[in-house]
This record gives sequence, C-alpha cells and structure tokens, in this order.
Amino acid sequence: MRDFAYVIAKTPEDAVVADGTNIMPIAGGTELLNWFRLGIAAPTSVIDLGHIPGLGTIAQTDDWLSIGALASLNDVGAHAVVRSEAALLSQACLAAASAQIRNRATIGGNVLQKTRCAYFRTEAPVPWACNKREPGSGCAAYAGLNERHALFGWTDDCVATQPSDPVVALAALEAEVELAGRDGRRILPVTELHLTQEDALAAGLDPARTETRMKPGEIIVGYRVPIRKGQRSAYVKVRERASYEYALVSAGAVIELDGGKISRASIALGSVAQKPWRLVKAEHELVGLPPTREAVLPALRAALADARPLSQNRYKISMAAGAAARAIVEASA
Ligand code: SF4
Repeated sequence: MRDFAYVIAKTPEDAVVADGTNIMPIAGGTELLNWFRLGIAAPTSVIDLGHIPGLGTIAQTDDWLSIGALASLNDVGAHAVVRSEAALLSQACLAAASAQIRNRATIGGNVLQKTRCAYFRTEAPVPWACNKREPGSGCAAYAGLNERHALFGWTDDCVATQPSDPVVALAALEAEVELAGRDGRRILPVTELHLTQEDALAAGLDPARTETRMKPGEIIVGYRVPIRKGQRSAYVKVRERASYEYALVSAGAVIELDGGKISRASIALGSVAQKPWRLVKAEHELVGLPPTREAVLPALRAALADARPLSQNRYKISMAAGAAARAIVEASA
C-alpha cells in the first residue's frame, strides 16, 4: 500500500479530475481498496464522493425511477418502489457479495468493478501473462483456466467477463446511466456503458484495457430506470455457493403478458461477456409464447447459437439458456 492524499468532494463536478492526473474517485471503497492492495491502481490522491448531498437518493418521478450512484446495494435492494416496479434489480442487488459488503458497496461503483479473472486478481508483480495488468504480456486465460470466462465478444487479447449483478438487471430494464465529466453531463443507455474486447478493437482502442465508454475523469452520477405498467421481472444467478460468490452465469428477464402469452420481453445475461449481453434475437421470438420453460427454451437456445466457447466454458451455453428460462418463468409467476 502506498500513501495517497484524501479529498472530500461536495458536488459530482468536484470529483471530475483534470487530464493527466493520477487521482481516483472513491465511494464505498469495496472494490477500489482491493485494487490498491493488489497493485492494480496506485493513485496519488483519492476524492471521496461519499459526502455529496443527494447522490444516494432513490425516488420515483412519473414513469421513471431515479437511483443515485451512492445508493448502497442493500438500500436499492430493500427499496419498496424498486421491489414493486423493478423486482429483478432488487434481486440482483441482494444477490451480490455479502450483507456487510452490500451495506458499503454503491450501485455506482458496482457496475465499474473489474473482472474476477484469477490471473488478473493477483498481487503485483504479476507472475503470468495478463494484458489487462501488463499490456503486451499476453492472456494466460485464453489457453489456460477459462471456465468462468466469456462466451461472447472476446478476442485473444482478453477473454474476461464483467461480473456485476446489478448491471444485468439495469440492462434488461433498459435503464440509462448519467455521467458527469469535463464537458458537462451526458446520458448513455446502460447497454452502451461497457465494451466487449471486440467492441474496443473495432473502435481502435486497447481491447484488453478498455472496458467502458466513459471518458477520462468521468464519474457515474446515477441511473434512470423506466417504469412500464404491467411489466414483471426476475433475476436468476447461478453460482457455486449461495452467498458471497460471483455468478457463473446470470439472467435478468423483464416481460409483459397479454392473455397468458408474452407480449414483450427484454432478456440480459451476465458473466458471459465484458458487458451485459442482451438476447435481442430471442426477445422477438418470445413474443406470443406462453411463459413456460418448454415454450421459451428453443428461442433462448437459438439466440445463444453464436456463442464462442473457450476450451473450458462450453457448459455456460446451456446454463445461460436455463437461467434465462427460469427468469422468464419466475417473472411470470
Ligand atoms: Fe488478463 Fe483478461 Fe486474460 Fe484474464 S482474460 S488473463 S484479465 S488478459
């Protein structure tokens, strides 16, 4: 651990740092302090967002739910309006980490956590190839231990996934994220916040180290979640133990029913790519089907046909289809 200066921000704009400075924002600290310990980040200063008034507020206005970036995962998960209008977001928040961590972890920071790739999460100096830690060193997971890695969007530079639970729910809900930066504030669909390695490569960016479309110095201010009358939702997380564990795969389903048949569907998968992975093709195919496992599985399997499994993670394809089917069935109940 190295020494660093500590500054308190009074407004989101206070935390927008100038170009070329080694200053990082901190909120709950449940992820950032790990980066310091492992040598993933070593800022000269941190700016504490935790004292900005109103940034943890959750409120309903008209057909939107607004959630401040500082709201803790437990606060979002327990909020009455989130539970009633966006149940899968409540479920995803409460499925993350442990109760103690959820009291500190913020929904702003959670979606910016880094991959759980074991080659990445190691103390410096990193003894193996990892392009995310040491650019140009290679990717040990590509030909190594990759059972938890990506099915979609990867390149041989990096095959890591984004492990956040809430971001899957926010993507299925078609939420927006508000960012504050040097050029003012802007809004992005949550589905466009993260980049796969292929997305980054296509944009001429470093495919291993570019994980979001956020500009240098930008911070997340909050989210806007549309509330649609009659929508039902559920989040399913498949993991090796019931608590304090990351997903092997997860699925969020938001559906509307008409006469017992699906009239609208929005499905997102987690832990299969470096961004929440929407099953857009399946969403069209699901319309008109009853929300039963037997009825929806063929469309979900077809939407997963273009997955590119690695040597050890082919199992994720059927697991993801099953998780999505379960989410649809639970949402309809
Ligand atoms: Fe590093 Fe990405 Fe490869 Fe993991 S998958 S070893 S994070 S480059």
